[in-house]
Amino acid sequence: MHGIVRTVDRLTPHLTRVVLGGEGLADFEPSPFSDSYVNLALAPPGAPYDMPCDLDEVRLAVAPEHRPVRRRYTVRAWDPVARTLTIDFVLHGHGGPGEGDPGVAAAWAAAAAPGDVLQLTGPGGSYAPDPEADCHLMVGDESALPAVAASLERVPAGAPVHVVVEVDGPDDELELTSPGRLAVTWLHRNDHPGAVDLLVAAVRALELPPGRVHAFVHGEAGDVRAVRRHLLLERGVDRSTLSASGYWRRSMTDEAWRAVKREWQAAVAAEA
Ligand SMILES: Cc1cc2nc3c(=O)[nH]c(=O)nc-3n(C[C@H](O)[C@H](O)[C@H](O)COP(=O)(O)OP(=O)(O)OC[C@H]3O[C@@H](n4cnc5c(N)ncnc54)[C@H](O)[C@@H]3O)c2cc1C
Repeated sequence: MHGIVRTVDRLTPHLTRVVLGGEGLADFEPSPFSDSYVNLALAPPGAPYDMPCDLDEVRLAVAPEHRPVRRRYTVRAWDPVARTLTIDFVLHGHGGPGEGDPGVAAAWAAAAAPGDVLQLTGPGGSYAPDPEADCHLMVGDESALPAVAASLERVPAGAPVHVVVEVDGPDDELELTSPGRLAVTWLHRNDHPGAVDLLVAAVRALELPPGRVHAFVHGEAGDVRAVRRHLLLERGVDRSTLSASGYWRRSMTDEAWRAVKREWQAAVAAEA
């Protein structure tokens, strides 16, 4: 499957929205989940082929450094009438969140223009707000904002929902809306240079209503791990009502992260 870029809009200094359309999305079937994601296939700079391509054929034909790279991105929205797919990309690196260079995906998004092609498979997913929960909690960084924003739309009217999001600064805040009773805490990492525990400290300070919490915690792997540990061990949140995973890991490309993710997840699961 592939989409053709229709529009590109800068939502904040470090978040860009790409809307894809075209006949290449004819087979796209939305998933029932609000954290629905697609697997993108992106050509690294200098790759000697055009996208879309036959991934199996290209992988065999080109040098390893030119093979298409795989990245996961959230389906921020799917319009079944216009058949358009919206993806919000964090522009990290080069002055954006995180250190070092942007990766292949962030660089692609930063340069995206109408007419560009984006090859993808999916969607997959695993979480949607439980309509029976007494309270909803969504925690993450910019990479989780698209899933948080999509999930907020599915919180039942009047249900309490707390959101805690870490971004660079005030300009990176997005307007979030929900039929639920929404309380949002924005954390600005630029105000706390070097701090790595902003998210867990803010979640620890939250007062949640009594009852069953349905929690969604995604973003940088170390931050997610700390928040998960707090929710399970200190708050007594039930494991079955917690969706938590590292969308990316500090100082690692997605390839490096995927190579150690299983081992990391086993260590995380052993904590609680
Ligand atoms: C299910 C799922 C859904 C996701 N949805 C989204 C989404 O909707 N939007 C989105 O932007 N991301 C999303 N991500 C995260 C995204 O896949 C990763 O951030 C990915 O590593 C970006 O690839 P890249 O090629 O830009 O950078 P890589 O080549 O993977 O990494 C290059 C460098 O940048 C760092 N880095 C990577 N991501 C970030 C970041 N977000 N902030 C700061 N530094 C970073 C790495 O640690 C590394 O040092 C999702 C991940 C998963 C698993």
